[in-house]
Amino acid sequence: MAVKMRMKGAILPGNSTVELKEFDVPKPGYGQVVIKTKATTICGSDIRCIYREHTGKGAEGYIPGMIAGHEPCGLIVEEGEGLRRFKKGDRVIVYHISGCGVCNDCRRGYYISCTSKFRAAYGWQRNGGMGEYILADEKDLIALPDELSYKDGAQVACGFGTVYEAIEKIGISGNDAVLVTGLGPVGLATLMLCKALGANQLIGVEMNDYRIELAKKLGLVTEVFKPGDDTLDKIIEATGGRGVEKAIDCSASDPGRQLAIRATHSYGKIAFVGEGGTCSFNPSPDIIHGQKTIYGSWVTSLWRMEELVDRLVRWKIHPDELITHEFSIDDAGEAYALMASGQCGKVAVIFGDQDEK
Ligand SMILES: [Zn+2]
Ligand SMILES: [Zn+2]
Repeated sequence: MAVKMRMKGAILPGNSTVELKEFDVPKPGYGQVVIKTKATTICGSDIRCIYREHTGKGAEGYIPGMIAGHEPCGLIVEEGEGLRRFKKGDRVIVYHISGCGVCNDCRRGYYISCTSKFRAAYGWQRNGGMGEYILADEKDLIALPDELSYKDGAQVACGFGTVYEAIEKIGISGNDAVLVTGLGPVGLATLMLCKALGANQLIGVEMNDYRIELAKKLGLVTEVFKPGDDTLDKIIEATGGRGVEKAIDCSASDPGRQLAIRATHSYGKIAFVGEGGTCSFNPSPDIIHGQKTIYGSWVTSLWRMEELVDRLVRWKIHPDELITHEFSIDDAGEAYALMASGQCGKVAVIFGDQDEK
């Protein structure tokens, strides 16, 4: 487990290219560790907010030159002073935002919502997982159980954590017919977790043929429809004239969100996970008269991420099944370009021996 002196890392200049650069391997400070990266998956927000162009502004914007990647998982290879729980040889997920740790949001575990000047997200304002090593704060780590692969863990760091938070907010069980609008990696993750929670009617709406076929192949949908004028009618019909109990929008589109609202029957719950865009609906017929509730959900908390890895083990399911393409760091450019094309499931950059412990 020798630590190198120099390492490769990928940065995103913002013109749909990836630049590979050499960096010094970091040294851990007090309360920090150095992680040998094993797998980093690419998130939709990497494409939307950084890869194509740097759209994020202010404290949440990407700082040019930072090593990208906010879904990292790896092995601790060096310890700083003052560690309290984790040690060399531990397999860990990095919760992708390092909060200040002492504000109210951080104390709730929602580092994502921290507004302190000390907040920094990995892959955005501090170096992330698209490098051979990651400098991380111990407080940002989630233990990766032996039963899960590094590729499973990488997806928990953002995508699966985000989905788990949303479906726990609206509550999913075998009582529910569930609609998921948008079957990119986040939508597919939603279906995988809803299925594990016992939902046995899983309806997907997606326009991309590749992703429709992937959802079917993975056995994650009972019905899947392409968006069109009659999609709402088809969902109502497929649910015996009632509509679904729960809907999760992962499309981030106005029509997708409208469909999620209107296909949910009275007293049902809807969660919005997909970011950006807008949504127009008619409050009285669409939500008020049906007594429906719409939840916004953003990433997750530290404790719920810990709970999720525990549940993945209990349910014996593996997020890495959603990975359709793997690349080495040398081919990170191809990895981002493929993710941007949408002709894929989840895309991962993997580093070396995946069985190293
Ligand atoms: Zn993300
Ligand atoms: Zn904070």
